[in-house]
Amino acid sequence: MALDCDWTLEGTARRRNRYYAASQRKFVPYADPMIFRKGSMQYLWDVAGGKYTDLLGMNVCISVGHSHPTVVEAAMEQARELTHCTTMFYHPVPAHFAQELTQTLPKGPGEAIEWVVHFTNSGGEAVDLSLNMARGFTGHADMLALRTGYHGPTLGAQSVTGIASFRHPVGMPGHVAFVAEPNQYRGVFGVGVAPYLDDIESTIQSATGGRVAGIIIEPVQGYGGIVEMPRGYLKGAAEIVRAAGGLLIIDEVQSGFGRTGDHMWGFQCDDVIPDIIIMAKGIGNGFPLGAVIARKNIAEAMADRFMFHTYGANPTSCAAGRAVLQVIGEEGLQENSRVVGAALLERLKDLQSRYGSIGDVRGRGLMLAIEIVKDRRTKEPDPNLTMRVFENCRAGKLVLSKSGPHRSVLRMVPPMCLNFDDVETVSDGLERAFAAVEN
Ligand code: PMP
Repeated sequence: MALDCDWTLEGTARRRNRYYAASQRKFVPYADPMIFRKGSMQYLWDVAGGKYTDLLGMNVCISVGHSHPTVVEAAMEQARELTHCTTMFYHPVPAHFAQELTQTLPKGPGEAIEWVVHFTNSGGEAVDLSLNMARGFTGHADMLALRTGYHGPTLGAQSVTGIASFRHPVGMPGHVAFVAEPNQYRGVFGVGVAPYLDDIESTIQSATGGRVAGIIIEPVQGYGGIVEMPRGYLKGAAEIVRAAGGLLIIDEVQSGFGRTGDHMWGFQCDDVIPDIIIMAKGIGNGFPLGAVIARKNIAEAMADRFMFHTYGANPTSCAAGRAVLQVIGEEGLQENSRVVGAALLERLKDLQSRYGSIGDVRGRGLMLAIEIVKDRRTKEPDPNLTMRVFENCRAGKLVLSKSGPHRSVLRMVPPMCLNFDDVETVSDGLERAFAAVEN
């Protein structure tokens, strides 16, 4: 039986305005909001039946495709049998999923690393748990995080988020020092890796007690505006932080599950193996799920106290997660992200050569961005023009997002099944969107 539902924009707007809290109601980037009624793979349909190419994947949650039949079927089958099972009872689905997830991770020299999993409901919860784990294991309180990093809405995650507009002016957990993000387009120390590593070293010496719990890094910053960690940075950061007693925590919430194309995990672009890895979003292709994966000895530090996420290890979400891993393998979605992403990046570079407002195009796999500036020489961000291009894209039936601390970056993180025909549709749509503002 379908629940009775008023699908009109007016009715939905009225109910949202009356019944949503400001914190939930506020974030609508479009001047004229829209309702999507259906999704299939890389496409969305609005209530009027208009078809869109989705370059946002409902904020990187849709990894293998909207309503992918294999994922939906796996979850529905489990939900019909037993929708939820609290972790005090044994259930094989999350246990299998934990095994399968750890098998995607490198084992290190001599196959020595034993990875273990703690499932959560969301990315923010996973980040908070990772901070707890790192501090408990090392016995140090001070954490390092990157400016322009985003790690989630929970208090711990906000405390390591380096973008003011995502933090609320309330008391945050302390003991966090921020280092400069190694942004190769507009970073404070310019191009290169060494000065950014020096910044980690000097921050440990000046803003911490000299010993730290760890550093948390996104291999490709998502909300920061698709900022890739240059080769050597993750490895160097790990060496410096480990020498100060800390751990390398990698946030793969946006960059994981094959999206970057060359590898399953974003951190694999560098010669380093993290201590703790955080996953969410694409792990469930739209079903709520998160995970912290840690080296066994590190996770063991939490063995003697209660740490319970009510829906962690929920078998319905974990059944979806298992299906996601299966589909990524069967449909070759990592390789697809690599080749289709490379083709799209080429088209973005071509646009850059013709439109002066495009200061930078970057990214890899299906994690790409266009940064819009007032002047290529000064690199001054242009949020107003970004807004106009963004609205033009919507008129051209493309969904994407505005990211970065200045909301001047068009972020593209589509379902990983995007194809070469879509690349044509997307580049034509972007062309029209820029031509309308520049010509
Ligand atoms: N880490 C990163 C890199 C994210 O982008 C997000 C969500 N945008 C989170 C953590 C938090 O995940 P969630 O919203 O599921 O709490």
